[in-house]
Amino acid sequence: MDWIKNTSWKPTIRHRPGGSARLTIHIGTLAENYDRLANFVKPARVAAVVKADAYGLGAERIAAVLFAHGCRDFFVADCGEALALRSSLPDWSNIYVLSGMQPGQEHSCIQNGIIPVINTLDQWANWALAAQAYDDPLPVVLQVDSGMGRLGIQPEDIPVIAGWSGEEPSVRIMLLMSHLACADEPHHPLNQAQLAEMRRIAGYFPNVPISLANSAGAFLEESFRGDIIRAGIALYGGPVRLDGLAPLDRVIDLEASVIQIRTLPAGKAVGYGAAHVTRSPTRLAVIGIGYADGLPRSLFGKGAVYWEGIRLPMVGRISMDSIVVDVSALPSGALSPGTLVEVIGKHQSLADLAGDAGTIAHEILTGLGTRLERIYR
Ligand SMILES: *Cc1c(COP(=O)(O)O)cnc(C)c1O
Repeated sequence: MDWIKNTSWKPTIRHRPGGSARLTIHIGTLAENYDRLANFVKPARVAAVVKADAYGLGAERIAAVLFAHGCRDFFVADCGEALALRSSLPDWSNIYVLSGMQPGQEHSCIQNGIIPVINTLDQWANWALAAQAYDDPLPVVLQVDSGMGRLGIQPEDIPVIAGWSGEEPSVRIMLLMSHLACADEPHHPLNQAQLAEMRRIAGYFPNVPISLANSAGAFLEESFRGDIIRAGIALYGGPVRLDGLAPLDRVIDLEASVIQIRTLPAGKAVGYGAAHVTRSPTRLAVIGIGYADGLPRSLFGKGAVYWEGIRLPMVGRISMDSIVVDVSALPSGALSPGTLVEVIGKHQSLADLAGDAGTIAHEILTGLGTRLERIYR
């Protein structure tokens, strides 16, 4: 159990302490979210989706914590991510690659115990061929396209694979998966159509466990859950509908410091393109976070930060390293250089900020820049 000991961590600071904006990642809350989700979907299991560096939060750290809380299944996007993660997790945990293998990657994945999600007949054939060099049948996940029209085996190829898999002793299908296109819209007709198609396809693969739901899918009817949920954003505190349940908690706080405070008279331009002009004398604060840190430029005219629960609207365009906010609502002297304001936190959720930017929580989270000082608690 030496391995578990290695995950007993202390709050550490990663990435350039002294930065003007910082991201705090609440590891304890992440673990609680995992436990609550696991409880909610029982008897289905929860696999953690840790692609894109665990949505920017640090895949190695996040995966190790979730493993310590009982998670044994981890999904990443490509082989590079899988190989990077392998040494952080014990051999007996499963790492699956959503995009499957690219030609030539088979052996390094086999040697590292990485499991491909097979999306095409070619991937299947390449894997089966490579697997012949090994004694035991090698596990794969089979992804079928049940209606999303993205990755996955086409419906017409299913009988081919099904016939072939019966005769292919070098390969063992351990999971049949598909992905929902509209899970975040519970009444979208495509959800039921995909469920029906998945059931039809599952008929070709008796006794193989099924995975259909991502985070949002876990909160559709129970029939969508199958045997394994693939949860990403729910674990990281993104918006999910929990009818009658306490919502999953936020896992990050994003704060940035005040750099300069000043009052501009009426009729003065603020920021690039002189896109905002003051209508009256206005007290403004320049805050040290910008689009290089992951604040989309589409927040122009809509976004805000908070100080002690008071909304401070962004004015002018988002710059690379800074934003300007209107602080007229605050008593003068409330802020001074170095004061931290809330960008994501108690008063403004990840989903709120994403909504103002016209995007989804996933895009905000994965876009948070490497320049941010990161603190794990
Ligand atoms: C990214 C991804 C997930 C996780 O989605 P969330 O909405 O973050 O839960 C699940 N399955 C597949 C195939 C994915 O690509």
